[in-house]
Amino acid sequence: MSFRLVDEEKEAVLPRKLTAENGAKALLIGEFTETINIRCECDGDDPECDICEGEGEYVQSVPLKWTTLKAIWDKAVAGLERKGGYVVDDPTADDLK
Ligand SMILES: [Zn+2]
Repeated sequence: MSFRLVDEEKEAVLPRKLTAENGAKALLIGEFTETINIRCECDGDDPECDICEGEGEYVQSVPLKWTTLKAIWDKAVAGLERKGGYVVDDPTADDLK
C-alpha cells in the first residue's frame, strides 16, 4: 500500500460512513431541508383557503431524512475516494517518517 500526504487545503480525511457513533448523526440531522408540494385538503375548491389560498397545494419545508444524508455521503465516498492511502502531514508523527 502506498501513501501520500493530504493537501489539507484541497482534501480532508473523513469517515467512510456517517454514523451516530462518529458524531455525524448529531452534526447533520436537521441541518438540511428540501421543499415538497403537498396537496391541500380543500383540493383547490376554496379560493379563500387559509392554507393554500385556493391553489390546491402548498409548499412545505421538510428535513432531509437520515437515510438520504447517508445515501448522499455513500455516493460521494464511492465516487470521490482517492485510492492508495493517505498520511496527514503531522510533524509530531515521527513514527511515520
Ligand atoms: Zn386549500
